[in-house]
Amino acid sequence: MIDHLWPEIWDTALYIYNNPELGGEEYQAAAYLRKIMEKHGFEVISPYLDIETSFKARIGATKPVIFFLAEYDALPEIGHGCGHHLIAGASAGAAISLAALKEYWSGSLVVLGTPAEETTGAKVALVDKGAFSDCDAALMFHPGQSTVINISSQALEALEVIFSGFHGHSSRGERGNSLVSLVSFYQEALNYKKAFYPEQQIDGVITSGGITPNLIPQKAVGKFYLRAITTELLKKTVQDFRKMIERIAEQNSTQVIIKRFEPRYLPMQTNAALAQVFQEQAKTLGVKMDMQQQYIIGSMDMGNVSWLVPAIHPYLPLGKGKFSAHSQEFKKMAGSPEGEKTMKLATKALALTALELLLKPELVEKIWQEKAGSGFTL
Ligand SMILES: [Zn+2]
Repeated sequence: MIDHLWPEIWDTALYIYNNPELGGEEYQAAAYLRKIMEKHGFEVISPYLDIETSFKARIGATKPVIFFLAEYDALPEIGHGCGHHLIAGASAGAAISLAALKEYWSGSLVVLGTPAEETTGAKVALVDKGAFSDCDAALMFHPGQSTVINISSQALEALEVIFSGFHGHSSRGERGNSLVSLVSFYQEALNYKKAFYPEQQIDGVITSGGITPNLIPQKAVGKFYLRAITTELLKKTVQDFRKMIERIAEQNSTQVIIKRFEPRYLPMQTNAALAQVFQEQAKTLGVKMDMQQQYIIGSMDMGNVSWLVPAIHPYLPLGKGKFSAHSQEFKKMAGSPEGEKTMKLATKALALTALELLLKPELVEKIWQEKAGSGFTL
């Protein structure tokens, strides 16, 4: 069935690839996906839960309810350098292929459009707004460098730091200079990263540091991503971060405000039983998945989904897996026949995994038996 529908499935991915849209602005991608889902008998709500470029496409009214998650945002300047068009194509493709076989299974399929993975991570809002309340399993894939499935990602806190102080002529000296405070902190953050990488990380940019050399800016602003491999460690990173900033502000007679500017990401917790189903299905397609647990240096909004429902986020290699994501080379590969090959494999493995769950209720029970994460507070 997938082979039969393939031209339409690949066209969907290519359309998104050729019309890259930034997170939160994926109007064309969402509209195109809506059209294809409706054509194949899905009922579509769009926008979904007040998230403008999100949508929910559903077929069936009974349990179990299997979710395929579709990302479709691009990067500034690079376009689809993370290959999210392949994610959208594989998720939509798996769902419409199974819909064509509806008489052979019972349950429901949902394709959930999850915008802005690279920035504000709509999955976080979708989790908070109850989008997963009837979800039995959440499936997606990501193109990458290797064939891994049992992954865990880093927790992420996004904090903006606003130092303020004396506003006037630069000849006055350095006390009360907001930019000096920010630069001192930036230097300390680099040392912190050096000492604790990769378990804990602080990365930042200066977003506002003045206009002209002879005027001390009233404000100096930086944005920082704090990451850690567990929520407990992230809590410590945030505490260390605050302490460093408050000490520097005080030493330098400046004031400081710290505020979150993007949602917090939880670390990905792969559901091992669900991963095993995917692994077995991938094997029937000739792909050996590495089941070893792997820490991904980086964060994903799928982490928040994984704390709520059984979820997987396997990686399948793009081409020979030589290029790292967010690069021009990766983008080129993701739009080539190699990208098509990877997506076709992912579409089949996702469809077969969902079909297993739809046909075997005991598998759904098994994946839910795995203990989900405990609550998370900072
Ligand atoms: Zn990505």
